[in-house]
Amino acid sequence: MNRTKNLKKIRKKDREWDIVIIGGGATGLGCAVDAASRGYKTLLLEQVDFSKGTSSRSTKLVHGGVRYLQQGDVSMVFEALQERGLMFKNAPHLVTNQSFIIPAYDFWGGPFYTVGLKVYDLMAGKLGLGPSKHLTREETIEAIPTVEQEGLQGGVIYHDGQFDDSRMAISLAQTAVDYGGTVLNHCKVTKLIKEGDLISGVVVVDQLSGEEFNIKSKVVINATGVFADEVIQMDEPEKKDMITPSQGIHVILNKEFLPNDFAIMVPHTSDDRVMFAVPWHNHVVVGTTDTLIENHSLEPVALESEIDFVLETAGQYLVKQPTRKDVLSVFAGLRPLAKPEDEKKATKEISRSHKILISISGLITIIGGKWTTYRKMAEDTIEKAIMLGGFPERECITKHLPIHGFRMDIDAYNDPMAPYGLDKEEILNLGEEEESLAGFLSEKLHIYKSQVAWAVRKEMACTVEDVLARRTRALFLDARESFRIAPEVADLMVKELDKDEEWKKTQLKDFEEVAKNYFFDK
Ligand SMILES: Cc1cc2nc3c(=O)[nH]c(=O)nc-3n(C[C@H](O)[C@H](O)[C@H](O)COP(=O)(O)OP(=O)(O)OC[C@H]3O[C@@H](n4cnc5c(N)ncnc54)[C@H](O)[C@@H]3O)c2cc1C
Repeated sequence: MNRTKNLKKIRKKDREWDIVIIGGGATGLGCAVDAASRGYKTLLLEQVDFSKGTSSRSTKLVHGGVRYLQQGDVSMVFEALQERGLMFKNAPHLVTNQSFIIPAYDFWGGPFYTVGLKVYDLMAGKLGLGPSKHLTREETIEAIPTVEQEGLQGGVIYHDGQFDDSRMAISLAQTAVDYGGTVLNHCKVTKLIKEGDLISGVVVVDQLSGEEFNIKSKVVINATGVFADEVIQMDEPEKKDMITPSQGIHVILNKEFLPNDFAIMVPHTSDDRVMFAVPWHNHVVVGTTDTLIENHSLEPVALESEIDFVLETAGQYLVKQPTRKDVLSVFAGLRPLAKPEDEKKATKEISRSHKILISISGLITIIGGKWTTYRKMAEDTIEKAIMLGGFPERECITKHLPIHGFRMDIDAYNDPMAPYGLDKEEILNLGEEEESLAGFLSEKLHIYKSQVAWAVRKEMACTVEDVLARRTRALFLDARESFRIAPEVADLMVKELDKDEEWKKTQLKDFEEVAKNYFFDK
């Protein structure tokens, strides 16, 4: 993960890649891991930072999707449950087994969901994370002391996976590099290059220096999520939009709202969706919504009505109604849903299955899907790339490929450093070896100063936002606290990157611009 070295590689004029991937979210990074681990010459280009888009803004679930089972999308749930099991096996330092409780307020609720979830368990087969079961009223209250008790009859407990989406993204980037792939952040693809009618490469601009590169590649993959239409239109300017962006928001609350390690799943909200309140990094993440929006952006903003809806719904299931004052951070993400044939369909009804499209000039576009299914999406996409590029056939090996940092002997539930896996000790050692890196940057969020240096040296963090939003999750967990520590992060980065006061000033201004959307009292 050395940006300077990787830029040198793309500066070589005669170099031809087998596969260039545009987009460094779950989908693109999954493709990079798959292609690199099969031995193809692979380059991934991300316009801002790995997981800057939707992939840092999920509900943090590795799940089959109980809701999709309700909707009858059995094949997608089956696929997602298999992938959930594989993710859990291949990245035990990043994915934990999370218990969810559905509180039941009518007499039939408990037995009804117990039966439904047995099907979910059966579909997971050998890759199941534990059986679901009915809970009495007393057992439900014992597990969730903060649950609304009026009218509570009992509950159902079931299991799904939970993870840190951005840390997973960085680990995937590292895995791709471990297998010989090349990844670059802050590099935007601005044009496709064609030889005759066929795509033969991309033009990319380094967003930090302004340098432009022409890159040759046998195959180009468009994995740009909600931005996919823009890349498709670089190829076919007249092409109609394929993506329907649907916004989902989350709020972060203090751990006191869910003091034990059980999550709450609300099976029917007033808009007939599901909602979750899940323990995450010693906080609680609550969401989400499903709001059709007109325009996509890199920093979508939560609507007032969405915030009200999430807080109100959470309040119906908790003893204490959370208010805006309790919200530590709010973030919005956009689902890159494939536009349905029937345009009147509500976004909640659009299938989350992925679609792969190949244009006449050979651009492969992958849209839709979920974080949980990133591996299978990548396998399907690279199979198409092999066909299109006429590459020597090589088997996909990602089903049993350990993700960078793979480690079993780590307490992924309680150790805040667990997502680093095998890298954990090296990061802690930095703090002991270098005086300026000793101690906490934020004791409240359990972030060490050495994590900043590590992010710059080993994880390609280039901006204060890269460090505070995605290498650590400070901005997402507690926006005010991230704001407080931003100047110290900038100072550490000035030293690491050999920058000056002017750079620091610009960085802090840029960070403030982004961070203000995560607070209320701007
Ligand atoms: C609110 C919400 C909650 C969700 N919760 C879950 C969940 O709990 N579990 C789950 O499994 N899934 C969940 N999902 C779905 C999942 O997050 C997405 O399916 C997944 O993150 C999409 O990844 P992606 O790589 O396709 O898109 P993105 O993450 O958006 O990545 C696309 C990338 O392409 C880059 N890009 C765009 N244009 C260019 C260009 N010209 N040059 C270079 N780079 C470019 C962008 O900067 C971006 O980083 C959720 C989604 C939402 C919105």
